[in-house]
Amino acid sequence: MSLLIVGSVALDTVETPFGRAQDALGGSAVYISVSSSYFTAPVRLVGVVGGDFAKEHISFLESRHVDLDGLQTVEGGKTFRWGGKYHYDLNVRDTLFTSLNVFEKFDPKIPEAYRVSGYVCLGNIDPTLQLQVLGQLNKPRLVVGDTMNYWIETKPNELFKTMKHMDVLIINDSEARLLTQEPNLIKAAKQIIGMGPQAVIIKKGEHGAMLVTSDTIFSAPAFPLENIFDPTGAGDSFAGGFIGWLARTEDLSPDNLKRAVIYGSTLASFCVEKFSVDGLRDLSYLKIHDRFRSFMELSRFDEK
Ligand code: AMP
Repeated sequence: MSLLIVGSVALDTVETPFGRAQDALGGSAVYISVSSSYFTAPVRLVGVVGGDFAKEHISFLESRHVDLDGLQTVEGGKTFRWGGKYHYDLNVRDTLFTSLNVFEKFDPKIPEAYRVSGYVCLGNIDPTLQLQVLGQLNKPRLVVGDTMNYWIETKPNELFKTMKHMDVLIINDSEARLLTQEPNLIKAAKQIIGMGPQAVIIKKGEHGAMLVTSDTIFSAPAFPLENIFDPTGAGDSFAGGFIGWLARTEDLSPDNLKRAVIYGSTLASFCVEKFSVDGLRDLSYLKIHDRFRSFMELSRFDEK
């Protein structure tokens, strides 16, 4: 079923202990679109780039059947750029710079043909813009949203308003604590459920992810990888795998939400194996399914 994705389209400069990439393709909407494109079509991307956005990036997204009718190009403007540096402990990241450029005046316009989109993923952007997007849509079946500490700190009231319209909030552990002022993640998740979403997914980096609803707690490990090159985009790839699976299956039952969490973790694991979106370029549904199955082995055990 149709999936609409709104978020940043970026050129990232990333340093890790294993290497450096300059002006590489990134942005929340890119990671979400590419990950979800392995599950469902059409994937509709709404975002903005400048005239400096390379044609090869457009060709790559088109090769993944991402519909770019909602991608605005501001000729003469520069694409959003973000720089980050990871430490030896790859869970620790410093933002080196954020140059909003054309993203500063981003006014998400949803093309007429996109207004009926069953599944919607609001990537990490200003919560006011997320709400503006929802206001242009015709009753989506599922709205999944992401956010970050920057918005929790600078626009909490706008975020609380937008959260009332989200069905699932995907957030990392430190952001969940910041949002709720609650150190315990289970209590934090329950508090978030009281704010609007029926489900919350708390990402814990290399320690996996936890899905919490009013009556379930499901804990998924992260795939144990020996080589992690670049964690950038792991959270967004998780969101793409999660919503991509739900849009493919059109099944929002508790058991299928758990499968979606594992598909999210699977896509995140492929993402971090290479720089930028390179780990997501040459996947196939079979390759993804194979790793999905290895997740089952990871925590299967017998009673005796
Ligand atoms: P993640 O590693 O999943 O948290 O996402 C990393 C991506 O988020 C990078 O590709 C960045 O371009 C993008 N990003 C970083 N800061 C922002 C921001 N303030 N607004 C939107 N996107 C951002």
